[in-house]
Amino acid sequence: MIHVDGSQGEGGGQIVRSSLALSLVTGRPVTITRIRAGRKKPGLLKQHLTAVRAAAEISEATVDGDRLGAERLVFRPGPVRPGAYTFRIGTAGSTTLVFQTVLPALMLAEGPSHLFLEGGTHNAWAPPFDFLKTTFLPCLAMTGPRVDVVLERYGFFPAGGGRFRATVAPARSMRRLELLEATPTGDPRVRVVVARLPEAIGWRECRTITRALGWDESVAEVETVNDSSGPGNVVMIVRRFGRVTELFTGFGRRGLPAEKVAEEVVRQYRRHETAGVPVGEHLADQLLLPLALAASREKATSRFKTLSLSRHAETQIDLIPLFLDVHFEVRSEAEDVVCVRVGPGTAQSSAASD
Ligand code: ATP
Repeated sequence: MIHVDGSQGEGGGQIVRSSLALSLVTGRPVTITRIRAGRKKPGLLKQHLTAVRAAAEISEATVDGDRLGAERLVFRPGPVRPGAYTFRIGTAGSTTLVFQTVLPALMLAEGPSHLFLEGGTHNAWAPPFDFLKTTFLPCLAMTGPRVDVVLERYGFFPAGGGRFRATVAPARSMRRLELLEATPTGDPRVRVVVARLPEAIGWRECRTITRALGWDESVAEVETVNDSSGPGNVVMIVRRFGRVTELFTGFGRRGLPAEKVAEEVVRQYRRHETAGVPVGEHLADQLLLPLALAASREKATSRFKTLSLSRHAETQIDLIPLFLDVHFEVRSEAEDVVCVRVGPGTAQSSAASD
């Protein structure tokens, strides 16, 4: 049994989801305590509970503590079974985060899987669907697993009701990944989605971005959506740096002027461009687990350059070696630039296990 203190590091939902994902791929049971201890509403929220139940369903796990608000969870996975699954969150909780919980196990399973997820598809503080499709999954494909995702309906906070489908073609083995080069290639794109709100909001956001960054207005587009359960507004800058297509996001909300939403996305973009790295803040924490799997299973060493690590990334680096025999090395290269190396460990991981 592996013991994880859920309040360590960033101390949020990510440590729960990553522990479940690692338990599924290793077949090792895990106890997580002090779940989201420092948060305003501690314990499992609907999105986390859906992730726990999804992880249990694909592996016929026995679970103790799978209820709303639980601060302690014991998860004992059985063998992972690929197949067709539907996971409905029932709130606007992030579908992409639930998906990322079961993905590592399904992408290494014996056969393909077909998933249908319902809830939020474009949430603040979570990977928007577009990030999954444009940024994360293409990088994952470079390591082996091929995953296709199709958005059927946008889901925004607080109404939810979004849907997407995923087809997971597992990889027999995983390859190393090297993402060091960061030359911007091709035109940038500014993509704004305006759901059940005036389209003019979107064009104000586009103009703020193109003016601030000195880009031609033709790189911007506004998609208007009428079939979502509630209103929503997401602003994205998409640009390729080396082999990575990065995506920077901002979310409109009541009381926040459209220009402010756009300026925040410009700030993220400028930080990234100034650093001259291929891998952005969010992709960095999300790549660590798949690269650790490549390292522990195939002894493959990966490297990538990114911005100074977030608490999310640091927490992943502390958590993953509890389950996998891997070694992380983080070297500072310049202001706000680090190089992360993910390689095989030297001994069987024994930390915190019985
Ligand atoms: P909490 O317990 O704080 O409520 P949570 O379960 O909602 O947490 P976090 O633990 O904060 O989620 O994890 C959020 C994940 O979403 C991280 O992997 C982070 O990199 C990712 N993420 C957040 N914002 C973005 C974004 N704009 N683009 C891509 N990924 C993002």
